Amino acid sequence: MQKPTPEIQQRLQQLRSQLQKASYAYYVLDAPVMEDAVYDQLYRELQDLETEYPQLITPDSPTQRVGESPATEFVSVRHNIPLYSLENAFNMAEFAAWEQRWQRIVATAAAYVCELKIDGSAVALTYENGVLVRGATRGDGVTGEDITQNVRAIRTIPLRLNWEEPPPVVEVRGEVFLPLAEFDRINRERAAAGELPFANPRNAAAGTLRQLDPRIVADRHLSFFPYNLHLPASGEITTHWSSLELLAGFGFQVNPHRQLCPSLAEVKGYYDEWEERRRQLPYMTDGVVVKINDLALQAQLGFTQKFPRWAIALKYQAQEVPTVVEAVTVQVGRTGALTPVAELKPVLLAGTMVARASLHNRDRVAELDLHIGDTVIIRKAGEIIPEVVLVLPELRPANAIPFQMPTTCPECGATVIKPPDEAVTRCINGECPAIIRGAIVHWASRNALDINGLGEKLVIQLVEQKLITSVADLYDLTVEQLATLERFGDKSARKLIAAIEKSKMQPWARVLYGLGIRHVGSVNAELLAAQFPSVELLRSASQSELEAVSGIGDIIARSVYEWFQVTANQAMIQRLQAHGLQMGSLPVPQSPRLPVPPAPLIGKTFVITGTLPTLKRDEAKLMIVQAGGKVTNSISAKTDYLLVGAEPGSKLLKAQSLGVSCLSESELLAMLGN
Ligand code: NAD
Repeated sequence: MQKPTPEIQQRLQQLRSQLQKASYAYYVLDAPVMEDAVYDQLYRELQDLETEYPQLITPDSPTQRVGESPATEFVSVRHNIPLYSLENAFNMAEFAAWEQRWQRIVATAAAYVCELKIDGSAVALTYENGVLVRGATRGDGVTGEDITQNVRAIRTIPLRLNWEEPPPVVEVRGEVFLPLAEFDRINRERAAAGELPFANPRNAAAGTLRQLDPRIVADRHLSFFPYNLHLPASGEITTHWSSLELLAGFGFQVNPHRQLCPSLAEVKGYYDEWEERRRQLPYMTDGVVVKINDLALQAQLGFTQKFPRWAIALKYQAQEVPTVVEAVTVQVGRTGALTPVAELKPVLLAGTMVARASLHNRDRVAELDLHIGDTVIIRKAGEIIPEVVLVLPELRPANAIPFQMPTTCPECGATVIKPPDEAVTRCINGECPAIIRGAIVHWASRNALDINGLGEKLVIQLVEQKLITSVADLYDLTVEQLATLERFGDKSARKLIAAIEKSKMQPWARVLYGLGIRHVGSVNAELLAAQFPSVELLRSASQSELEAVSGIGDIIARSVYEWFQVTANQAMIQRLQAHGLQMGSLPVPQSPRLPVPPAPLIGKTFVITGTLPTLKRDEAKLMIVQAGGKVTNSISAKTDYLLVGAEPGSKLLKAQSLGVSCLSESELLAMLGN
């Protein structure tokens, strides 16, 4: 047997204590302290360590328990047949391993029934002579709570089975859940009453089931899908599939999206299909449940200490997972901003392997109290690189080192500054190679001058070789100079020169965006270029003239104004003009007959979250601004609309709690008359 190191012993003990706390918060308090996927991953880690070091398993380890003890407010009920949990698989390989495991016990092929895994709360219903006499929560699987009064308030649970000659006792098991629309309504009402919103529909359902006042339950419109039927042994029902049909005949609402799958291949089809489709459902799901269809085979396989051997939950990839910070590096961007980046123990997040996550800035690092060696939770933040959302201090090893932001630039060694009104730390050395590189990469990027072939690696070489120190230098480069670069032949050199030459045709708005003036993204560049059709007009505009442009606020106006006051910037503009870049032309007076564009969104403030079905974020933003509206980054009571795409972030919850209207892309287009 392998001997555990003190670090491993410490980790095991920390994992147990953290999981125990999370489990208590989840099951007993209905107020989770972490995402399910985070819990699942930490649980896996504990399980793996216990498999490696079985001598360290303790009877009170979370891996040895089914659930939490029932709360004391309700009468305890002993389940006749234990209500076990389900084993988890997180991908098809784990599913195949599970299939092989049960086939080692009974060597046979079997068909499966696939069902959606509804994210709610398990309930066992007892019917005596066809009449509902008891409803109970799962509790620890052996003992649950008597919530009969509350389940009676759920309209999709029949009080009497539609069965002419019912047997003396029938038990129906299923999931009580809260439809998403109800969840939103309840959270809006809670926010209005100054109460904390529920973290998710599952907690809301579990919390509601434990209300002592059944009127509150009735008011919350919980619903129910049955998924298991326990009949006295009659031999008539031989498959799980037919028991679901029987439940529908009794008057239950059985989930319609079930599927009979003859083998693993069809299970995969179902799992893949629902990964996307589940987002359109009016209730939450967190995976699919796969059960062996043949009830005789189910009985043969039986249960482990915690799970049925004949069923498994296939969960979907998580949006948030825990991992360990192995180091922190600091990157310098084109504006000189120092961004700390966590170098992580690689982990699978939403389908991709992730090894780095942003820590944003010094304030964020301080807020997180990040130590190297910490276990952190990372999340995909929109389309950008993942970010560290939380540190789990209880899992901090004894030798963890606190991370401190450097006081000098890691690229050029200059002393960095932290402006009092900003969260970022900045290098302000105009000759810092990182700033020069960043500016050139930005200039060549797709939405700016779109110079094909001028990527980051090449820019690093060009700056290192001192062939260029600004974007204007690009236009002085020669084929001969480029051909001296490592692994850069004559042909590639010619191609690049042609691409640089072609960039001279890019319109003024792109040139303006390419200059990299702070706060001037591609949308703002379009707005400014439309209002000031030449560089001369823009340069001579006052701050208040800039601010008068719809969509341009005081911060952007000041930034543009100040940029043009800098002599080095003026010199660069002159050089670019001399090279023939498009700096706009003087405006043609507008015909008085031209119609004034309609502005249906005047005075309306929008926030955007998630991925829109057809529009890019910038495109949506531009359309809103052009119609007179405003787009901001965060939700507040002043926000009029949240434009919601697929996989929305936490903004959706915030909007719902503040009662902000949510719009889809097609609803926005309809508002714009498209
Ligand atoms: P589970 O929720 O992963 O799966 C079992 C449950 O699935 C069943 O009890 C049943 O209620 C439900 N279910 C939904 N649809 C079903 C269907 N069609 N057929 C059968 N069952 C269906 O397991 P669990 O033991 O209830 O809870 C363990 C999970 O709870 C963990 O994996 C974790 O995700 C979560 N948890 C989270 C925290 C936290 O802090 N966030 C703490 C403890 C547990």
